[in-house]
Amino acid sequence: MNGIRDKNVLVTGGSSGIGQAIAVRFGLEGANVAINYRKGEEEAEATHAQIYAAIEECGRQIETAGARHILVQADVAKEDDIRTMMETTVRELGGLDILINNAGIQSAADSHELTVEQYDRVMTVNARGAFLCAREAIRHFLAERKPGVIINMSSVHQLIPKPRFLSYAMSKGAMQNLTRSLALEYAGRGIRVNGVGPGATVTPMNQAWIDDPEKRAQVEGHIPLGRAGTAEEMAAVTVFLCSDEAAYITGQTLFVDGGLTLFPDFRSAWSSE
Ligand code: NAD
Repeated sequence: MNGIRDKNVLVTGGSSGIGQAIAVRFGLEGANVAINYRKGEEEAEATHAQIYAAIEECGRQIETAGARHILVQADVAKEDDIRTMMETTVRELGGLDILINNAGIQSAADSHELTVEQYDRVMTVNARGAFLCAREAIRHFLAERKPGVIINMSSVHQLIPKPRFLSYAMSKGAMQNLTRSLALEYAGRGIRVNGVGPGATVTPMNQAWIDDPEKRAQVEGHIPLGRAGTAEEMAAVTVFLCSDEAAYITGQTLFVDGGLTLFPDFRSAWSSE
């Protein structure tokens, strides 16, 4: 896609799922990619090993395509980590042109049982983490007096309520105005900010249903196009929004959801005939 080759890109949560596919796609398009991974003391050893294994796999694929890339550690819940990640990326790649705010988590609980810790964790990673990464990226774009692009990986739950996932739905709702407010504030300085809103996508986040035919059929039964999306489909739209092909798009969230945000229950008219 036009305008991606030789750009310097940072992808948060780049070690698995959608973030990994985005990092690989940018690499294939000739961008230099900083792949963020989390190394938090709260993580179990097994999770840790899987993250590194995924990063290695991701890095190898990018290398094969000939793009330069680095691995950068940061827990996006931690401001100091984010600052260090940005400094490392700028130093190692020679600058930053594109930030992909992809890192995200969710946790399930009846809302009346949701603890402050559970609530804060999701909001801190998903909403505050995206804000802090965007702030650091914008500071760099402004200091260098150069254009930049930010993509916020939102969700259909930016629009669709998600019972038992209150903080997740709230964090994705917040992303809408993170995207819109930053887009308006910095449009005059050549910075574009957009969102991508995936529907149900086959990634580790959805381990609970992707390998269970019954649960998967239940999920996919809600989707007008009749199937879950792939990480690669999310990556294609993300890279498009960062490219020169999308130079006139800012402040928008593009839902990539097989029609999930089209009120699927209204497929057949039910109230007017
Ligand atoms: P995933 O679990 O595979 O990826 C999430 C990534 O975020 C992982 O690489 C993880 O290590 C990273 N991460 C989590 N907490 C972090 C932290 N504190 N610091 C740094 N990195 C951290 O799931 P995914 O489906 O690829 O999710 C990617 C994004 O897409 C998320 O923002 C998610 O909300 C969004 N999304 C996913 C779906 C879906 O159906 N899979 C749907 C809508 C939106």
